[in-house]
Amino acid sequence: MNLKTVEKFLILRGHEKYRLRQIQNLIYKNFISDWNEANVLPKDLKEDLSKKINILSFVVKKTIKSKDLKAVKALFELKDKNYIETVLLETSTKNFSVCASTQVGCAVKCPFCATGKMGLKRNLSEEEITDQLLFWNQYIKKEKLDGKISGVVFMGMGEPFFNYDLTAQSVKKLISPDFFGLASRHISVSTFGYIPGIRKFAKDFPQVNLAISLHAVNNLLRNKLVPLNKDFPLEKLSKALGEYVETTHRKVFIEYVLMKGVNDSRKDAEKLVKWLRKTAAAKYFTINIIPYNETVKRFKASSPDQAKFFESQLQMLGIAATIRKSLGADIQGACGQLAGKKANKLKKSKKV
Ligand code: SAH
Ligand code: SF4
Repeated sequence: MNLKTVEKFLILRGHEKYRLRQIQNLIYKNFISDWNEANVLPKDLKEDLSKKINILSFVVKKTIKSKDLKAVKALFELKDKNYIETVLLETSTKNFSVCASTQVGCAVKCPFCATGKMGLKRNLSEEEITDQLLFWNQYIKKEKLDGKISGVVFMGMGEPFFNYDLTAQSVKKLISPDFFGLASRHISVSTFGYIPGIRKFAKDFPQVNLAISLHAVNNLLRNKLVPLNKDFPLEKLSKALGEYVETTHRKVFIEYVLMKGVNDSRKDAEKLVKWLRKTAAAKYFTINIIPYNETVKRFKASSPDQAKFFESQLQMLGIAATIRKSLGADIQGACGQLAGKKANKLKKSKKV
């Protein structure tokens, strides 16, 4: 929803100014998904809006529920016929979290990541990023789900810091009481480690969580897993994170996708802890061990026992670590596994 377009529309048609505020509330507080639901507006304005203004900037092609009903994935067709995906996760009773996308594809091209396989197509606009939230709020209302969205993670398709300004504008809307009114601390932005982005983020959003997709702490391996590590190597990343902690005094969330025989040994755990301790005090880190979802055949997930072992090693060495619950693995609905497949390719999936 682009309020600027609505404002122009209202002026052009000679409607009173206060209608804009009414419309903003209908969209961002009442989560109407059809102008017909806008009962406070006069009939002619409702009809006019229905003809001229789309509430969402994309067309919803499909929603797919996971078997455990803890995750729903949505596929959207953008105006230029590109596709993006986003996920709604039930994180606890009455609480939902949204995994949002910031780009179509991704330029980092991590070989284990379905989005990375696509390469970068384009940035999403602020409207396209924020509308993902709008859509899920409408969905919760329509489906009469019990609960509300309390958190957003920018862990969908794309590298948020390569689309910094528009992601930042979207984060501002998520926090603003006039729009979604979420708590900064319930929003997380995840990056592969784009250092200029980390520096800017520390200044602009010291209250919003930063997550780093680390996966390896030696350059040789990380160059393979996260190809742009070559431009932003681990020594520089360590320095940038040290500075981040110094200026914000905030924890950094470390994401570590666990892959069998790649980065899951006792030695890997020891080296990881050593690297973190060199970067900043142990209390500033929480490691999210992410079981690999086998979207790319070349990589395999570590066994659950190995993941448990890895977790216990980290904990023993004094760093907080948890294995991320794989909500919605059957719909590849966990964050970071989204590829914006065309609608027809998804036809076999269970439609809701
Ligand atoms: N580009 C950003 C944010 C999107 S990716 C980043 O890399 O941080 C979000 C997370 O999903 C990253 O930690 C990524 O490594 C992880 N991920 C990607 N593909 C995955 C897969 N198949 N299984 C599990 N996690 C995956
Ligand atoms: Fe891009 Fe993140 Fe996927 Fe790497 S893991 S290709 S940075 S979306």
